[in-house]
Amino acid sequence: MSNENIRNEKMEAIVSLAKRRGFIYQGSEVYGGLSGTWDYGPLGVRLKRNIMNLWWKMFVEERDDMYGVDAAILMNQKVWVASGHTNTFSDPMVECNNCHGRFRADAIDTGKCPTCGKENSFSEPVQFNMMFKTHVGPVEDESSISYLRPETAQGIFTNYRNVIDSFHPDIPFGIGQQGKAFRNEISPRDFIFRTREFEQMEIEYFVKSEKWEESFEMWRQLVWQYCEAIGLPTELVHEFEVPDKDRAHYSKRTIDFEFDYPIGREELLGLAYRTDFDLGNIQRETGKSMDYNVKGTNEKFVPHVIEPSFGVERTLMAVLSAAYTEDEINGEKRVFLKFPEHLAPVKYAVSPLLKNKPELVTKAREVYKLLKKKYGAVMWDDNGNIGKRYRRQDEIGTPYCVVVDFDTLDDNAVTIRNRDTTEQKRVAISEL
Ligand code: ATP
Repeated sequence: MSNENIRNEKMEAIVSLAKRRGFIYQGSEVYGGLSGTWDYGPLGVRLKRNIMNLWWKMFVEERDDMYGVDAAILMNQKVWVASGHTNTFSDPMVECNNCHGRFRADAIDTGKCPTCGKENSFSEPVQFNMMFKTHVGPVEDESSISYLRPETAQGIFTNYRNVIDSFHPDIPFGIGQQGKAFRNEISPRDFIFRTREFEQMEIEYFVKSEKWEESFEMWRQLVWQYCEAIGLPTELVHEFEVPDKDRAHYSKRTIDFEFDYPIGREELLGLAYRTDFDLGNIQRETGKSMDYNVKGTNEKFVPHVIEPSFGVERTLMAVLSAAYTEDEINGEKRVFLKFPEHLAPVKYAVSPLLKNKPELVTKAREVYKLLKKKYGAVMWDDNGNIGKRYRRQDEIGTPYCVVVDFDTLDDNAVTIRNRDTTEQKRVAISEL
């Protein structure tokens, strides 16, 4: 489909369904697209928000030890100097001597240029910084440089002191944030798996240094609970203990949670012990104390940090891949998205059996209004015959189709068809 390299049949089927049914489109598509960007359509935005809201509820709203923030994407350039991103947030890049295509060095495993096929003809790797640089204000000089944030985490660290001063939390406590992050990836690939603009959901959980293992373990269990809540089959999720040499410069322990995507086993999210690296940097660079003062005592220390870091796109791609199902109904192939009900972008589709019978349409409209008021995510669907409607609703993962027929006019009951079993039941409207 696009310039993004999509590697297998199931993935192709998902990408094509996502586009056809209004989940995800290539960014700037009418203008020929912009590599590494994707847009969410009417169903995609609902699915994405359902995931993000579930995360927020589970990790922020329902907990006593968590605080939410929403920091600015543009930050003082000193943030990225102190965090090490200005110097070290880079990937090794090589250039093909033949076609001048540029690639991440570690992505050239066969020695062949992925674009022109020429063998073993690459430049020496150079370090390519992945932050998008910009200028703030009308003067473009060194002092006005800023970056689109490459992670949301720094917006949490810069607000650590503010949250303590406003709320005086007991330790351990955490701050959560959701929002856009930007990385000028050398080779965006695999649909929404590696993009240049994406969304993160991150938590910095502040602990006493000697207690880090306890909190790390707690978050590890919570990550598993989250995977279950979004409907990922346990056997498709794997922990990968990242070895010393591969860990980010700030981390003393990292577990990558990987998922068996159609493209292979890849990182879904990360859980890292980030020590006091970031608060220590802020303290050193600003001269301001990042000490946590234990209430009623003289005990003071810079907390250490456990960081569960979730990618929204990678979660969404895992949810889509896990939900994508093919089966056979009466000898006919069927495709459906088996979303958990609470994530489905449409919960109920309502239709009149025949759309040219005004009495059925009027009754069905009544049922539609009733459900819409109660559940919000309800769709009116009277296009084509009933079989076509079921197929369309299956493809977008609607758990229930409600049909109003002539009997409804007498018995005030409707037929409800279940997406997964295709079974139909008669239910009184008052019990919907
Ligand atoms: P990778 O090794 O795949 O580049 P990373 O280890 O650099 O990822 P982190 O810096 O740990 O990623 O970012 C945390 C999370 O943000 C990742 O687990 C992933 O879910 C998400 N993420 C990172 N980069 C991208 C990207 N380019 N596109 C989509 N999601 C991303």
